[in-house]
Amino acid sequence: MKRALSLLFALALLVGLGPEVHAAAPNGFLSAAAYNYQDDRYDDPQDLPLVQLTLDGQPISGEMPGVILGGRTLAPLRLLAEGLGAEVEWLPDDSQVRVTRAERDILLTLGSATAEVDGLVQALPDGVPATILSYEGQGYTMVPARFFSETLDCLVGWDQTSYTASVSQRSYIDQRYGELLAPLETPVAPQSRLIVLDAGHGGSASGAYYEKTAEKDLTLSMTQKVETILNALGYRTLMTRREDVYMDLYDRAGVANEAGADLFVSIHCNAADHKPDFQGTYVYHYPGSETGKALAQTLQDAICAFTGSVDRGIESANFVVVRETTMPAALVETGFMTCPEELARLRDEAYQTRMAQGIAQGIIRYLNAQEAPEPVVPAPDDPASTTPTPEAPTEQTPSEAPSEQPPAEQTPSEVPAEQAPAEPVDYPVGLPLD
Ligand SMILES: [Zn+2]
Repeated sequence: MKRALSLLFALALLVGLGPEVHAAAPNGFLSAAAYNYQDDRYDDPQDLPLVQLTLDGQPISGEMPGVILGGRTLAPLRLLAEGLGAEVEWLPDDSQVRVTRAERDILLTLGSATAEVDGLVQALPDGVPATILSYEGQGYTMVPARFFSETLDCLVGWDQTSYTASVSQRSYIDQRYGELLAPLETPVAPQSRLIVLDAGHGGSASGAYYEKTAEKDLTLSMTQKVETILNALGYRTLMTRREDVYMDLYDRAGVANEAGADLFVSIHCNAADHKPDFQGTYVYHYPGSETGKALAQTLQDAICAFTGSVDRGIESANFVVVRETTMPAALVETGFMTCPEELARLRDEAYQTRMAQGIAQGIIRYLNAQEAPEPVVPAPDDPASTTPTPEAPTEQTPSEAPSEQPPAEQTPSEVPAEQAPAEPVDYPVGLPLD
């Protein structure tokens, strides 16, 4: 038994950690015995490579350190749970432990290759279970560090040279420095710009509602992410709402007008009943507004580049918030809640972050274009044209590139056509046109 386990262990190390395994264990080894749930006894002790654990950049340690077993890092449950502020409940009759934090619920069965997350069974990475390790006469409950931490919405890193597993509690600011944000343009004089961000709906106005998900919650979450990114880049922002409260559409525009904002961006989710396959992003502007149109196109391009969302193009519509605002304004319909796949993405934190990054990128690009010196076109007959006002956008032709969908599907009856923009898709639940 021991021999077989050692062989398995060595194989798992090779598979899990790659060619550098021969130089393994920069932190040394620890001799511990793992509980064998099949035989109902401890296996013989084995030398397990030690792993350093950090939480939000600070080393964490207790009586029992992190170790590698079965090619995976196991961390003491108590250490991780306490560090992350998670609640732990023991269910000794079933050899189970329930961990809850925020909205997340993990049920681990010791010795089992699966766990339940929010009631759904999930396979553990490489089938390495939570287990008890006996070390110096004490039993310690050990959990797969990456699975455990990521399920609790943390970011996990691994440094091979120092055998360090780093757990960081996810924050949007952290993500700003992640690779996803790398393509964001450098803002020009961001502190001089005030951007009003409008999370669609709120309070008694839920917006669209599908699969127990309210549009108002998705829009607030995404809008807050946009704000965090813009603030981190130095922009000043105002939110029309920060909580789940009802807010009148005219008041939303009023906030931006009174503050003398440079830009107004409203964020929504779309719906097209009876068309579950229909998905993608639209950005709306007020009919005839050249600045709004340029902003909408810039947002549309950046969002689709960041998210991979189906590019439905820009549209004009007589929405209150883009009509009553006095600065360049646009309304983003991020995606369709009626499409199950798109709804799943819209609910996903990582996708929301990419959406927020795309929106932020569009805002930065639009504002940077305002700062850049306009090319001076000689026009002797019209001296005024040599000094364009900063408000005048460069002539931007919205791409009329057809999307992948055949033309018939491109404009479903729910979606306003160019000639008849009056009826936005989410009109019934969201945006009175007046
Ligand atoms: Zn809406």
